[in-house]
Amino acid sequence: MNTATTEPLKNARIAVIGYGSQGRAHALNLHESGLDVVVGARPDGPSWQRAQEDGLTVAEPAEAVKGADLVAFLTPDMVQPAVYAESIEPNIKPGAALLFAHGFNVHFGQIKPRADIDVNLVAPKGPGALVRSEYQRGRGVPCLIAVHQDATGQAEARARAYAAGIGGARAMLIATDFKEETETDLFGEQAVLCGGASELVTKGFETLVEAGYQPEIAYYEVMHELKLIVDLFYEGGLAKMLQFVSETAQYGDYTRGPRVVDEGTKARMKEVLREIQDGSFAREWTAEYAAGLPNYRKFKEADLAHPIEKVGAQLRARMAWLQKDSKAASGTGESLKKAG
Ligand code: NDP
Ligand code: MG
Repeated sequence: MNTATTEPLKNARIAVIGYGSQGRAHALNLHESGLDVVVGARPDGPSWQRAQEDGLTVAEPAEAVKGADLVAFLTPDMVQPAVYAESIEPNIKPGAALLFAHGFNVHFGQIKPRADIDVNLVAPKGPGALVRSEYQRGRGVPCLIAVHQDATGQAEARARAYAAGIGGARAMLIATDFKEETETDLFGEQAVLCGGASELVTKGFETLVEAGYQPEIAYYEVMHELKLIVDLFYEGGLAKMLQFVSETAQYGDYTRGPRVVDEGTKARMKEVLREIQDGSFAREWTAEYAAGLPNYRKFKEADLAHPIEKVGAQLRARMAWLQKDSKAASGTGESLKKAG
């Protein structure tokens, strides 16, 4: 049960720093919930104008932070340490709250927040576009909420009020902590969502093509049709997927699936999780980012040069329904744009 209201933030000024996927949705929803919102943006970046066109008050990040009782920190995770040092730490009022939508920097010590402020988290379980569109329909996207530091005794109340203001409390609030939110989020994207799924698809494609089958047909089987299955998972879990596929597909699933993804895979998932938990992934990634992303660029180039990309582009160009409005049709293109 969630009885959260915006009441604890009724007289508060909220600075939303960053006006991207999450920032725009949060700022507009909070504003329409009757709260006092100022957007913090760079004068030379595209967000400044966009927020103004949306009818919001805009200021440079340092200025926005100065008057704020709550600062929602919604720039990309990897730029947050620099923005914190430059614009937030010298300007945030004692007793104000610093609110994150992902715990990476605080949990891994890349940002060490001042002791006299609250540090809390409201993480919607969906992309900004959905946070916005659900709010406009009178509904909301469920949110994780957490408190890292409670200097005022109000950290949790203010997180709940913020979650109410963006609409999340209309759906569900799940209490967590920065450690759980950060580690599970990284594990999901590494082992299953981005890393696991892309490897499964490309290895499946290579298997078929190396066996002499046409790449076009391989693409349909292992990448294109994945969406049908994932949509069934999303709507109704394993039960709905099993209900909608043939008996032959089910029997193949039960008997062959566990041979492809087996206990050895699970043991390696546990290794990946350990590297997240012991901080070695965060250290590796932070060093890579600081070095100017040399390996990241190489890995990305290799992914984009994979033969599945070439045949995929040709086939997608012939599927008219993927051309028009393709962003709105998928709706998830930005949902995992986080620490990675
Ligand atoms: P975006 O990549 O969409 O953020 C872009 C915004 O950040 C733009 O307004 C950009 O301004 C601004 N920005 C970038 N660099 C700077 C800088 N150096 N100084 C000031 N502003 C800057 O971020 P997301 O919304 O994806 O992520 C924000 C937070 O939300 C992250 O912590 C993320 O992990 C978390 N999160 C994201 C989800 C998502 O769906 N994307 C889901 C749940 C949590 P400009 O226009 O000037 O370039
Ligand atoms: Mg990959």
